[in-house]
Amino acid sequence: MAAIDGLPPLRDVISRHGLDAKKALGQNFLLDLNLTQKIARTAGSLEGVTVIEVGPGPGGLTRAILSLGAKKVIAIERDSRCLPALAEISNHYPGRLEVIEGDALRVDFETLVTDGSPVKIIANLPYNVGTQLLVNWLLSKSWPPFYQSLTLMFQREVGLRIVAEEDDDHYGRLGVLCGWRTHARMAFDVPPQAFTPPPKVTSSVVHLEPRENPIACRVEALERVTQVAFGQRRKMLRQSVKSLGGEALLAKAEIDPQRRAETLSVEEFCRLANCL
Ligand code: SAM
Repeated sequence: MAAIDGLPPLRDVISRHGLDAKKALGQNFLLDLNLTQKIARTAGSLEGVTVIEVGPGPGGLTRAILSLGAKKVIAIERDSRCLPALAEISNHYPGRLEVIEGDALRVDFETLVTDGSPVKIIANLPYNVGTQLLVNWLLSKSWPPFYQSLTLMFQREVGLRIVAEEDDDHYGRLGVLCGWRTHARMAFDVPPQAFTPPPKVTSSVVHLEPRENPIACRVEALERVTQVAFGQRRKMLRQSVKSLGGEALLAKAEIDPQRRAETLSVEEFCRLANCL
């Protein structure tokens, strides 16, 4: 493992601070700093950027982000056992790491960065809250949102749903929401053995950049049509969207009632939502 910053190897940090992984907190740590740098590099240049990281744990990804020149990292960690290890990183990079102890689901992300610097979110997310955090960031009230990009690690299955387009088995509500507001792409896979302890499944890093001008559409209406349509994804739309107006609604949106939800593009879902 190449040293990237003169700090001790992560394996030593974990044993010195007694950070045995807790399953309930989705703790699967990355110890290879070359790999964490590869994840951080997926976000593009970090010069002058404030990075928000959720779940720094012992700090492998945090160290990579700082070593690549981010102006500052604001890291939110729920497990207080990790704080002493993160304090060592903070001492090594004075004034560049701020750690907030708490539940990321309760943080107001839009107001975290106050110095006007560009914001990127980079995280190896805890599996139990990852999708909810992503949806919250996508539903940001102001658009373009407070961040320039999201570079996130998920279970591969979730990554495939994020980047899925129509006619793909993984396409569903999450794919429509991501495709509507962002350009989302799969960056690379990470095998279970890269983590300590190894999870059961392969993980993937996905990268999302906000679209400047998403199709005008009310998010509540879009969520209603995708919920109803994908609730019965194998049925024809005239059946699955019956509760929202069925054939009359589809005629108004100029969509063939014999089609199925998974064949509709994001643009067609927006049209349906706008006809509600
Ligand atoms: N970033 C580290 C790495 O890549 O090795 C750790 C990633 S581990 C998959 C997820 C981290 O998120 C853990 O450190 C866990 O304690 C933290 N975590 C879990 N739930 C959280 C929550 N609701 N808010 C903030 N952090 C959370």
